[in-house]
Amino acid sequence: MEIFKTIAALQNHLQNQNSRKPVGLVPTMGALHNGHLSLIKTAKAQAATVVCSIFVNPTQFTDAGDLEKYPRPVETDIQKLEQAGCHILFMPEVTEMYPQKEHWHLDIGEIENRLEGEFRPGHYQGVMQIVYKLFVAVKPDLAFFGQKDFQQIRVIEKMVELKNLPIKLVTCPIIREADGLAMSSRNIYLNDAERKHALILSWALLQLKKSFVKEASEKLRQEAIEMITVEPQVKLEYLEIVNMDDLNRDISNPEKGIIALVAAKVGQTRLIDNMILS
Ligand code: AMP
Repeated sequence: MEIFKTIAALQNHLQNQNSRKPVGLVPTMGALHNGHLSLIKTAKAQAATVVCSIFVNPTQFTDAGDLEKYPRPVETDIQKLEQAGCHILFMPEVTEMYPQKEHWHLDIGEIENRLEGEFRPGHYQGVMQIVYKLFVAVKPDLAFFGQKDFQQIRVIEKMVELKNLPIKLVTCPIIREADGLAMSSRNIYLNDAERKHALILSWALLQLKKSFVKEASEKLRQEAIEMITVEPQVKLEYLEIVNMDDLNRDISNPEKGIIALVAAKVGQTRLIDNMILS
């Protein structure tokens, strides 16, 4: 695996070494787990050259403490990517991606402010800012994202559309631990008790999925909320049932389906999860 820390070196390699097309990009913030590695695997199946980026992007963090303590196990990440057969790792410093103070704003409408956007104002502007920079640096034909961050996919789709980028976005399914907990780089913060309490999120979603009928959606949503709120140390932020088109609550005629999304703090750790209901 080739490792690059600057955009110039990465582009020099991609352009001059005749990297085989199509080029697939898997953007990550590192602390890699099997969820990330499943993206690499899917990328390898669809792209001839796979670039993984590891960059803990400061502009998408809405909590300075969260940014500071975000795990950065670089050596283990490199080993995991080598084993997964990733071709290129792009691992820039903050100054490489943000050499000067810059203003970024892209109006993508209401989707930015719902759900995650409501609880993490400005988060998606930061996400779009870095993903756009990575797209410009790598110029991928394909980019791979996890359903785990479902709203993020819709946001990036909108950005790709508005900026007219010739990039196909590929959504990969959520990888879970054996007991159902969605894999996340933040799971390592959970102590044993919190780890058990956190399970309620995937259980509640699964219960909702099993009993889901559109007509009883609000009743089932309330039941799921109750399941979560009685769990000790779990502080629910939202549990919403929305259409998969623009993530609003009107589920009468969804084109793409219906999804339940949840966010909660377990102890000090903020977790998100979702499940497609129909
Ligand atoms: P992150 O490093 O958390 O920014 O995630 C990088 C990419 O991996 C994003 O596209 C995530 O949606 C995806 N991802 C994170 N966790 C999972 C998971 N459990 N299953 C599948 N994809 C995931």
